[in-house]
Amino acid sequence: MGQARQRGSLAQRQQAAIDQKLALRPKFITCNHCQATLTAMDAVDVSALPGITAAFEAHCPHCEHDTYAIKGEPEAVARLHAAIEQAAGGSSGAGTVPAANKG
Ligand SMILES: [Zn+2]
Repeated sequence: MGQARQRGSLAQRQQAAIDQKLALRPKFITCNHCQATLTAMDAVDVSALPGITAAFEAHCPHCEHDTYAIKGEPEAVARLHAAIEQAAGGSSGAGTVPAANKG
């Protein structure tokens, strides 16, 4: 055998990258807004963000709030958090949006 060696190594590298991201993925994110436990989350592309190892975004179905889990250097994480809050505050008004008649 061994005919798939090259393809195998490429697939292995891709799988390793995926495994690495999954290893960094938290089991759940606690909603910043209503403290719900969110197990569904999307990985955020952080390749352009120096100091950030990984970031995940979870959308809360209960209160429609987005919560981020960010891993990396503390300063970079703080900067990214601030940037997200600014972006969210400017466009969707996160934290000030009325919870549209939701009980
Ligand atoms: Zn929530």
